[in-house]
Amino acid sequence: LRLEVQDAEKFRMISELTSVFAHEIRNPMQVTRGFLQLLDEPDLPHHKKEYIKVSIEELDRANEIINDFLAFGKPSMNTYGTINVGEQLKRVTTLIQTFSINQQVEFKSDVADDCWIKANPQKLNQSLINILKNAVESMPDGGTVWIACHSSEDGHIRITIKDQGIGMNPKQVDRLGSPYYSLKEKGTGLGMMVSYQIIRSFKGRITVESEEGVGTEFVIEFPRVET
Ligand code: ADP
Ligand code: MG
Repeated sequence: LRLEVQDAEKFRMISELTSVFAHEIRNPMQVTRGFLQLLDEPDLPHHKKEYIKVSIEELDRANEIINDFLAFGKPSMNTYGTINVGEQLKRVTTLIQTFSINQQVEFKSDVADDCWIKANPQKLNQSLINILKNAVESMPDGGTVWIACHSSEDGHIRITIKDQGIGMNPKQVDRLGSPYYSLKEKGTGLGMMVSYQIIRSFKGRITVESEEGVGTEFVIEFPRVET
């Protein structure tokens, strides 16, 4: 599958369909996973235990792919309007803190409360979550993630997300956002593609600065909406 989404309308249709599919598929997957766990009894022969283990791993992998497209929210709740970016950033930060496996990671945020843009809040949050998740995953030994959001003089809202992780070389930065590009053992390589497309669909711009062994900074800019 090669995904090339050129314009906002195509993107909107695809993301709408994705949301619907993801929701419909998630439930049966959870049920299957539950029954597989029940099948896994102590006296099973080794090869059967292995089948169950692989099946559960594959289900978890499918779930990860869904998560990169749809972290939360029902598709029917999709709305496009004027939203407060600072408020959304606080939400996703709490969410990622709660679910972060890596408890060594500290979050520091500096978000203004006058940052208004036109976007769909669920899609925006999905794009932010995917970036934040990568930031956390880039610091296996812990570190700080800085999250900031301010209104700039030139009529933009500027969001920055910075980590102290493993960083990337220029070639790796160039490949960000292309489908299935992942350097992680269990990565989907879809998170950044989804983020980039969401940001573009709201007339945003994303730039990356990264240095190996030092960290990465994402800067996202959206046209500001006056309220
Ligand atoms: P996945 O996280 O499933 O690997 P993504 O599309 O989210 O897929 O990211 C693609 C790749 O980009 C990652 O595998 C990683 O190599 C690189 N990457 C993204 N964000 C960062 C970051 N903050 N620090 C270092 N590498 C990153
Ligand atoms: Mg990712």
